Amino acid sequence: MEKICVAVRVRPPVFQESFNGTFWKVEENRISLHKAHGTPISGLSYTFDHIFDDSSTNGSVYELLTKDIIHAAVEGFNGTAFAYGQTSSGKTFTMNGSETDPGIIPRAVKDIFGKMQMTCDREFLIRVSYMEIYNEEINDLLAVENQKLQIHESLERGIFVAGLREEIVSSAEQVLKLIEAGEVNRHFGETNMNVRSSRSHTIFRMVIESKGKDSNSSSDFSTSDAVRVSVLNLVDLAGSERIAKTGAGGVRLKEGKHINKSLMILGNVINKLSDGSKQRAHIPYRDSKLTRILQPALGGNAKTSIICTLAPEEIHIEETKGTLHFASRAK
Ligand code: ADP
Ligand code: MG
Repeated sequence: MEKICVAVRVRPPVFQESFNGTFWKVEENRISLHKAHGTPISGLSYTFDHIFDDSSTNGSVYELLTKDIIHAAVEGFNGTAFAYGQTSSGKTFTMNGSETDPGIIPRAVKDIFGKMQMTCDREFLIRVSYMEIYNEEINDLLAVENQKLQIHESLERGIFVAGLREEIVSSAEQVLKLIEAGEVNRHFGETNMNVRSSRSHTIFRMVIESKGKDSNSSSDFSTSDAVRVSVLNLVDLAGSERIAKTGAGGVRLKEGKHINKSLMILGNVINKLSDGSKQRAHIPYRDSKLTRILQPALGGNAKTSIICTLAPEEIHIEETKGTLHFASRAK
């Protein structure tokens, strides 16, 4: 079982706070809560594999946290990278990035095509899909008509989302265009773009299939012994904020309950996977759509990383503690 790599990233403050009773201090791979005059507050100090402070770039996050997973995926290992955190803490910034500093997804896509070109002795077939889980319903972001999709399992295909569009792609540019189109579908019919996106999990998936060029003279991919298939999931999770705080009712309350439950199940699954002594324990993949879909690329030989994003402002302190608690359980 591969160790799950857990990192924390603190985004820059959005506004200058007038009153600062406490602040989060980052020293190498430790983050701790301090009183305004500098003394640490006991019991609120955490260490992780990596901590990225507010001057970090998406480039450094990619290098230190995700690059190995991407390279392993090209070599045939499944992998999953998550961004977890409350709304506005920087998940989408980390996964998608900005014009000047592309995020994990565009970097991974470019890197995969670059690696493929350098692997002269193998032929590749790449398929891309993009989906969201909203209120425990799976919707296809590459084909709006594919809504409320079901998860199936077969001997041949393993666990799969029935009816999900998979586009065969041949260049990084083509993949980035598909993602852009998917983003438009994601917000279809929404008046407030940020609302829906923070209430759903999105899974960007690449299936990387390859075979040795001279291992079989036949051009049929499926008959070669040397075929490798790996699945890579890059996941932007729904906002982890507790619903009680927002005083939500109706639709928002329903969404919140689904989100809290699926994030809790994800936490349980990851906690069991990362704790060696519980290896033979039951792992509750089936308890949520998210963990069920990701099951083949979580655990076993799969490589996993989680980046937990934090908002540094004091008004977010309770959510930040919650995120650090989640991150600690994942180690
Ligand atoms: P989330 O997806 O968690 O809701 P976003 O990624 O949308 O949060 O980030 C909220 C805002 O903060 C955005 O305007 C984003 O550009 C900005 N932001 C987040 N993280 C960073 C960062 N590390 N550096 C600069 N700006 C950031
Ligand atoms: Mg977001």
